[in-house]
Amino acid sequence: MTNFWKTLGYRTAMDVLYFSGVHRMLAPLTRGCGLLYMLHRVTPARDEAFQPNAFLEVTPEFLEEVIVDTRAAGVEFVSITEAHRRLVEGDFAGRFAVMTLDDGYQDNLDVALPVFRRHRVPFTVFASSGIADGSCELWWLALERIIAENSAVRIDFEDQRKTVQAGTTAEKDAAYVQLCHWIGYELDEHAQRRAIRALARDAGLDLRALCRSLAMDWDGLRRLKAEPLATVGAHTVGHHAVARMSEAEARAQMAEDVARHEAELGERPQFFAYPYGGKQAAGARDFAIAADLGFKLAVTTRPGQIFPCHREHLTALPRVSLNGLYQKRRYVELLRGGAPFALYNGFRRLDVA
Ligand SMILES: [Zn+2]
Repeated sequence: MTNFWKTLGYRTAMDVLYFSGVHRMLAPLTRGCGLLYMLHRVTPARDEAFQPNAFLEVTPEFLEEVIVDTRAAGVEFVSITEAHRRLVEGDFAGRFAVMTLDDGYQDNLDVALPVFRRHRVPFTVFASSGIADGSCELWWLALERIIAENSAVRIDFEDQRKTVQAGTTAEKDAAYVQLCHWIGYELDEHAQRRAIRALARDAGLDLRALCRSLAMDWDGLRRLKAEPLATVGAHTVGHHAVARMSEAEARAQMAEDVARHEAELGERPQFFAYPYGGKQAAGARDFAIAADLGFKLAVTTRPGQIFPCHREHLTALPRVSLNGLYQKRRYVELLRGGAPFALYNGFRRLDVA
């Protein structure tokens, strides 16, 4: 199934749920005590036809709408530190929301921060130290750039030799789906990076320059950290799906990231987000490592709200994605009510295995 049909399918389901009013009937059952919103990039809308990573970008106007609507629904924005306190102390008198942004993109500072300041919303950025160093390959964005700028992509990697056409927008979309699946799922975490380096070399793309152009460096993160509303959390050294690594590698990815944050920012990070964050990227073993390393809270990208029972699973928290393909107030209202997660999770509140 292509992304397009998947999107249309989910959208139709969301619209049926919304316009039927069923979500409002379910809300007393499906609403948690809190929710952790997940964002990546906050940027003005772009008009290119080929935008395979559009789901990772929302506009500042949409972010503003989400903030206003969330407050109007009686949900209080709190810092991640305060959310941790409420969970640990069992303080569930009012519903809370936490804004989180993954990876450490420059637009978090330039575009999102002014919105958060204007509305006095605390937020947390989970930054990978390799991204701040400029040494992380950001393969999903590199792949987008390579396909956008070339009418064919030459693959000359280990035992693979072929050319993928990328002339028209349809070809580019298909090439992205095919190559993203190969690099992101078929190759292991190490081969994945060798492959994107080979593709970038053949296409003349400077991976370090790409990372530098999109992400905050340590000076940027220090500026961010000086903001009273901001918290900086950890996100592994090399932005890896830790569940696909050995236990020793997974632990090193987390522990070395903590050490780099502490050395550069002067404070040990207390919060962590698993890169990619889905079931294949972070599992029970990794939740235990995060707890062992002393993180107060660690967040996945598994969809869901926070319930009192999450007190026992503080390093396996679900989040509510603010997805760039769903920038409509009604979709966020649905997610805030919790009905889509309850239906998706079969009304189970915990998904921590
Ligand atoms: Zn990430």
